[in-house]
Formats: sequence, structure tokens, C-alpha cells
Amino acid sequence: MKCSKCSNRAVIDMRYMQKQLCSYCFSRYYWQRVKRNIVRNNMLSRHDKVGVGVSGGKDSLVTLYVLKDMHYDVNAICVDEGISGYRDKTIPYVERFCEQREIPLTIVRNKDQYGITIDDARKRDPAKPACSYCGVFRREQLNRTARELGMTKLATGHNLDDEVQVILMNFFRGEVQRMARTGPVAGLVENELFVPRIKPLRDSPEKENVVYALVNGIEYDDIECPYSTDAFRRDIRNFMNQMEEKRPGTKFGILNAYDRMLPILQSGLENISAPLQCEKCGELTSSLVCKKCEMLQVLQEAA
Ligand SMILES: [Zn+2]
Ligand SMILES: [Zn+2]
Repeated sequence: MKCSKCSNRAVIDMRYMQKQLCSYCFSRYYWQRVKRNIVRNNMLSRHDKVGVGVSGGKDSLVTLYVLKDMHYDVNAICVDEGISGYRDKTIPYVERFCEQREIPLTIVRNKDQYGITIDDARKRDPAKPACSYCGVFRREQLNRTARELGMTKLATGHNLDDEVQVILMNFFRGEVQRMARTGPVAGLVENELFVPRIKPLRDSPEKENVVYALVNGIEYDDIECPYSTDAFRRDIRNFMNQMEEKRPGTKFGILNAYDRMLPILQSGLENISAPLQCEKCGELTSSLVCKKCEMLQVLQEAA
């Protein structure tokens, strides 16, 4: 298999565009696609300070690598959720990565911030999927930490596959309101307490993140969380991979269709009331007490 551009040995077959690329041409192509995504969606300006949420997996480390390579002012933020045998395994990859590349790194622990780990949450409330606690706590940790560090944007490693899964999950469940909130720059509120979230890799297929990490010497650990049990998402993922296999370009097709529908979806949103500040912690919320404080109370009562 030869590179379609330079006839070196190809390392990847990109069937959706009928091209095979060598490691050099692939890296270039990939980098330019991320750049285009950032520019087209107005994700970043040169004045931005970018907090990058990193886990030690390929998607987040590739995000950090590419943004640093583009000379953005980055600060890595890693949330230690307190999941033994999992996060303690991936954090060393984050530390090594940031040390080698002289990137400032801030690690925040659920244990320190909330006095509770996800392992604790799991034990105290076994009926509820640990992911719902984990997601709410992580979002709060990332937003608050980014804000405290003076970051003006918060980048996450969501890739094309993640985006398409969420779009379809919301679509299949009829969650139109939620669909309007999954765009390239997530969150609609403009408020000084809220750091806007961006997804530089949202049109990068997961498979290509693997190859990009490999050819650029990015070491990562993508072990699966022991609590991950989302069967619905898994079904959608398998279904999408089958469709992509049969009909290359399906994932990009869905993302493009979604992006074109997004302004219509957003204009149809029911009035979004101005966000309130949580009575307990002062973070933004749509009700009197934020989701995180509500969850913490449940867990404290179950202790
Ligand atoms: Zn080439
Ligand atoms: Zn609160």
C-alpha cells in the first residue's frame, strides 16, 4: 500500500476519502483538519488560555499535543475521580507527557474537593450507574479549576465517534433539547463563572487518533473504566462501526448533517432561563441547588 500523495509506504487506509497516507502525509492532514475545525468553529483566538482536560487516554493527550504544537497557551487539567485500578494507572502517562513537553499540569482529586471518591459513590449508591456521579463531578472540577487558573477556554478530547454516538443517542431517545447543546462549542450560557468548552478533535475519527498517537510517539493508556456499563452507547457504537465498514463516510455524514441542523435546533430551544448560582456552592445551575451538591447530599446521607 503506497501513499496517495508521495508514494512512501502508507500506514493508514482512509476509505471515506479513498486515500492511503504515509505517516508524514497523514500527520500533516490530521493536523490541518484539527486547525480547520478550530478556525471554522471560532474555537480559539491567539489570546486564549486553554485548559485541556486530560485523562491519560489517547484522545485527550492528542488534543494536548496538537494544541501545544499549534503554539496555543495550554495548561493540562487532570481529574482524579478516585477509581482504584483505573485512574491511578493512567495518571503517570499524563505526568510523563507533561514533564517531557514542559506543559503545566494541575491534578485535582474528588477526594480532596468533595471528600468522596467514585469508589465511595459506587459503594454508597450501587443502584445508580457510577458514570452519572462521575460525569457531574468531573465537569464541575474541570470548569472550576480552569476558571481558577485563569483559563478562557476548556478543551476536551471528544472525537468523531463520541460526537456521533451522542448525536444518535439523543436522536434515538427523542432528546431534542439535549441535541441542541452538543455542538462544537458546548454550553450556551455566557457567564464569567463558566469556561466555554471546545472540542478540537470532534471531526477526528477515533481510529485516526490511535494512528496519530502512534506516529507521533505519544504514549497513553486507554484501559476501560471498571464502572463503564452504558449498554445503549455500546450498541450505538457497534452499529455505527458496522455502518462505517459497509459505507465509509457514514460518521462524517451524520456529523455534517447535525452541524447543518444545529442552528435550527438551537433556535427552537425553549427559553433558556438565565443561570442561577447554587445556594450551597455558588456554581452555576438551572435550579436552586446544583446537581453536584444534590448528589453530594445523597451520598453523604448514605454514608
Ligand atoms: Zn505520503
Ligand atoms: Zn452546588
